[in-house]
Amino acid sequence: MVIMSKVSIVVPCYNEADTIVKFHQSVTSLWEENETAAAHELELLFINDGSVDDTGRILRELAASDPRIHYTGFSRNFGKEAAIFCGLKQASGDAVIVMDADLQHPPEKIPEMLLKWQEGYTVVEGIKSDRGREGAMHGLLTCLFYRLFRGSTGIDIAGASDYKLLSRKAVDALNAMPERVTFFRALTYWTGFRSAKVTFDVADRTGGRSKWTGFSLLRYAINDLTSFSYLPLRIIGIMGLIVFFIGILLGIDAVISYFSGKSVGGYPSLVILITLSTGAILLSLGIIAIYLAGIYIEIKDRPRYLIEDRH
Ligand code: UDP
Ligand code: MG
Repeated sequence: MVIMSKVSIVVPCYNEADTIVKFHQSVTSLWEENETAAAHELELLFINDGSVDDTGRILRELAASDPRIHYTGFSRNFGKEAAIFCGLKQASGDAVIVMDADLQHPPEKIPEMLLKWQEGYTVVEGIKSDRGREGAMHGLLTCLFYRLFRGSTGIDIAGASDYKLLSRKAVDALNAMPERVTFFRALTYWTGFRSAKVTFDVADRTGGRSKWTGFSLLRYAINDLTSFSYLPLRIIGIMGLIVFFIGILLGIDAVISYFSGKSVGGYPSLVILITLSTGAILLSLGIIAIYLAGIYIEIKDRPRYLIEDRH
């Protein structure tokens, strides 16, 4: 068989000792059994994002046993986004597939993605058709976030996941982006490259635990929104205008009351005004602070991750 081109698979791993061997088996057996996959040379890039369990040892052993596998270990946990971008930088394939280590991104979908790529699409987006086991509250908040995101950026990322295939052109475009705070899931949409969708059901984790907590998800959502949209800053201006008009109305009311001989209601209106305007000012400061922190992080220009060892 003629090998046509090379496909790299980037896998961010954080405490995945329970899942990695199974993941590796299912990808390599796909390459043995599936013609579409086997037609491409395989490169597997595991990025160990500062795991504190056996992940590092298992991955180094895998890398030693199979020349297609490359291991990169971070000096500490830098986050999934950093691990993904490190993998994109190292990948040498004509196409790069990014997927989770826990088999929640089914490898069986890889051939379908490859076929779309061969049809000429620059990006193939993995879309969750079923969100797997997530609580009702989680589902509601996710839905709200997608709506907010679409409302403020015009980009519809409902169902989007980090399971994607990127052609070399898209990988180069992402690698050329200088920013530190990224949102991989939406950045491929932002590029506007011709994209196809492949839907998949989110399987249950094969082992280990999800790394997300309610708080980290909220922080992620705020980061993502503010790194893509200036709408919150514009809302501050609108809020200022509203408070200003309320002030004018109250002023007119006070003048009328004064000339018609009624006593001007002092204390209650004063309390309302003070709490309203203080609230508006503090909220505005909070929003500005988020953007300021964003600038601070970018301007420090620190590396996004530090590599401890590579095999
Ligand atoms: N991950 C990572 N660094 C982190 C957290 C997660 O590299 O700080 C990896 C993790 O090993 C997995 C993928 O990102 O391969 C998705 O993580 P997880 O399964 O916890 O997220 P969920 O599927 O619950 O969204
Ligand atoms: Mg998962």
